[in-house]
Amino acid sequence: MTQLVHDFETGGMEQKDLLGGKGANLAEMTRLGLPVPPGFTITTDACRAYLATGSVPDGLFAEVDAHLARLEERVGRRLGDPDDPLLVSVRSGAKFSMPGMMETVLDIGLGDASVEGLARHTGSPRFAWDSYRRLVQMYGRTVLGVEGDRFEDAIEAAKRAKGVAADVDLDADDLRNLVAGFRAVVEEDAGRPFPQDPREQLRGAVVAVFDSWNSDRAALYRRRERIPADLGTAVNVQVMVFGNRGPDSGSGVAFTRDPATGAAGGYGDYLADAQGEDVVAGVRNTLSLDELERLHPGPHAELLDIMRRLESHYRDMCDIEFTVEQGRLWMLQTRVGKRTAEAAFRIATDLVDEGVISEEEALGRVTGDQLAQLMFPHFDLHADRTLLATGMSASPGAAVGEAVFDSGTAVSRAAAGRPVILVRRETTPDDLHGMVAAAGILTSRGGKTSHAAVVARGMGRTCVCGAETLEVDVRARRFTTHDGTVIEEGDVLSIDGSTGEVFAGEVPVRPSPIVRWFEGTTAAEDGGPVVAAVDRLMRVADRHRRMSVRANADNAADAARARRFGAEGIGLCRTEHMFLGERRELVERLILTDTPEERQEVFDELLPLQRADFVEILTAMDGLPVTVRLLDPPLHEFLPDLTDLSVRVAVAEATGQPHDKESRLLLAVQRLHEQNPMLGLRGVRLGIAIPGLFQMQARAILEAAAVVTGRGGAALPQIMVPLVGAVEELRAIRSEIDAAAHEARVAHGVHLDHRVGTMIELPRAALTAGAIAEAADFFSFGTNDLTQTTWGFSRDDVESSFFSRYMEAGILGVSPFETIDRDGVGRLVRIGTEEGRRTRPDLEVGVCGEHGGDPESVCWFDECGLDYVSCSPFRVPVARLEAGRATVLRERAGRGRGRTHDGPGLPEAGPGPS
Ligand code: PEP
Ligand code: MG
Repeated sequence: MTQLVHDFETGGMEQKDLLGGKGANLAEMTRLGLPVPPGFTITTDACRAYLATGSVPDGLFAEVDAHLARLEERVGRRLGDPDDPLLVSVRSGAKFSMPGMMETVLDIGLGDASVEGLARHTGSPRFAWDSYRRLVQMYGRTVLGVEGDRFEDAIEAAKRAKGVAADVDLDADDLRNLVAGFRAVVEEDAGRPFPQDPREQLRGAVVAVFDSWNSDRAALYRRRERIPADLGTAVNVQVMVFGNRGPDSGSGVAFTRDPATGAAGGYGDYLADAQGEDVVAGVRNTLSLDELERLHPGPHAELLDIMRRLESHYRDMCDIEFTVEQGRLWMLQTRVGKRTAEAAFRIATDLVDEGVISEEEALGRVTGDQLAQLMFPHFDLHADRTLLATGMSASPGAAVGEAVFDSGTAVSRAAAGRPVILVRRETTPDDLHGMVAAAGILTSRGGKTSHAAVVARGMGRTCVCGAETLEVDVRARRFTTHDGTVIEEGDVLSIDGSTGEVFAGEVPVRPSPIVRWFEGTTAAEDGGPVVAAVDRLMRVADRHRRMSVRANADNAADAARARRFGAEGIGLCRTEHMFLGERRELVERLILTDTPEERQEVFDELLPLQRADFVEILTAMDGLPVTVRLLDPPLHEFLPDLTDLSVRVAVAEATGQPHDKESRLLLAVQRLHEQNPMLGLRGVRLGIAIPGLFQMQARAILEAAAVVTGRGGAALPQIMVPLVGAVEELRAIRSEIDAAAHEARVAHGVHLDHRVGTMIELPRAALTAGAIAEAADFFSFGTNDLTQTTWGFSRDDVESSFFSRYMEAGILGVSPFETIDRDGVGRLVRIGTEEGRRTRPDLEVGVCGEHGGDPESVCWFDECGLDYVSCSPFRVPVARLEAGRATVLRERAGRGRGRTHDGPGLPEAGPGPS
């Protein structure tokens, strides 16, 4: 039969799966000979069996009894003994730390008889009755489901009646009365008395801890931290030591380094005459470690020595819970401590300098998410803030400005030096100039791959989208919150793109020193310890990474910034933004023309404009590859709104105004109207439906390359065809591009190499990649559309409509638009890569969907053997760091290079260490 209970003496820190983090570390500290009160751990196997069947596994409590008997023998006291009772604590402890999410019951073993024995034996009736009231309170709430407030109310009433402010001012008699009151509350609320049998208490507490794995708050925490729902928790039963035995006792928490800044040196809080959660619950003011030294020099010195030992043993910053009982130090818990992003970088590099870990290991200790956090300006957390709504954290950062409701106003106010927040129900390509001008963008609809989100991230602009509780009335230039607060145009707003929060008024913002360093405005040596740590680990990542990193950029300014951030080329230059503004009229003409001659006239006008666009970008990326995607979105996006145009034509008809052109336009708009534009006339289909369009773009790209080359630059254009589903589509367009290349060569008299590739963004493209590779020099996975078409999820709608339900129900742990769905979309990436390379072993393969900047997805692309990831300029450092981490973690796990590997995913940066 599987052993379900293990004494602390027999385990170790490597057994977190079985013993949970707390149990494994208690065992490890025991093994190290540290002063740990003895005890045993009930395994996660036992919990999983209980959760699966609804009943405690056979033999569990017999095993518990046997371990308890040994414990009693060892400490020379018995549970429930009326003279000198043994008391135990029962604590949860899962593999991954879930602080405060599950249950704990302390002081198990007390009853009406043994409390008197405890009072006699310790000579402190107050202590005995305080312990008893804690037990009835915790057991009542946790095991018997009594409303916690009822106990708190009773304590408050007792303090009021006595005219005192603190719990320590209640004496033994007060506490005895409180116990009587608590027991009455239990009987009334739970319908049964508080159990006097200590074994019944122990069993009830164990089951309550098992059950707490599935409490709402624990389930919510797991979803947020991406901790698997089926791990279960271990249960630790441990001899109680008492921090509440008077002024020479107390309990504390400590970190071996400062968890906020990473600065070396211990850091902690101690509370005299206190137990359990008191120290973190804010019941009384705590003391620092220095003050503890004055109070208890012996235990303080021992604690510092243990902290040093633990840090060198765990080779990382540790956090610790300890108790001082009548001047004697006891260790109750340790684990690798949680820390801020800033502290993570600093501690990792400090440990390298101290010779504790290697640079490669240090790289594994920081994450792209932490780097991203350091790169955004953030609001001052100590400032007063009035929350109006919470939407989706679409593009991080902190932005403050006047609310404006249309792009024209955004541009004019910004030009007058007034920062603005552009507020829309949703944005369209028409809003681009407003988004460029705005400090931040707020929408009430749309998800993380909506137009607003993608464009904002591309520009490094702060964006909150899908703030559904806001009623945005663009015409009236105002929005209303769920509680009726009205924000008018010109009112100041602050939006936090990292949390999705929207605040009224101006919240003070702090800029990021890391970005100033990336931008080259601060030198690494002048940036302080965090900049120095980031600089160092970026170098380690760059030295190790196998994949290169490109940027998604469609203008010279973004390209230049991406280069400063370390981009090694452009992986996606979307050309649709080049057809807006004044050029829109040319697109209208293109759509209205009936003859090839008229169409050619439009192309002749567009060609020099496009060429100039590409000259700028190729110049900014001189010497690096620039992947230009031919026009992709549905044509109607360039046309007037159907309803507006119908009204204009109807009014013109009624008033006898000339409306010939508008009527023709209306017919075209009606003809091009689609029920599902994302699945309609877009991508390669446009190129085939409008002969000459892609040829003109290809020619402009190649002529631009010729111009740049002629100036002595090195242009490396790659022409990319979107939304291909069949090799025949690519072949048809490729012959047009080859013809354009020929024309450009002749016209400019220069030799030009040109490469033609395709996006893989439809399942059919991934599944027929072997055939498509016959006509492609490179692939780039468009994982936004690939996710949309694989799942059948509309990328503009689903995140704000039903994803929260899916998350709550545990159907999705994270949006597949944010992190690649490895089993479905990710598998298509792998299949497409492998089959494409089978046809053409030198096929270059990259990814340019939003996932290219997502840390977890970058690891997956490394596994699949991709050559590069491409992401918005601002994410480039994150992708560099994660690409380096992917290589180092894979090599440390002893795996080969990505191309043929079939194993499970890399270790993830998800759940924190425990
Ligand atoms: C994609 O689909 O992943 C992609 C990069 O193209 P877009 O987002 O422009 O459709
Ligand atoms: Mg796409």
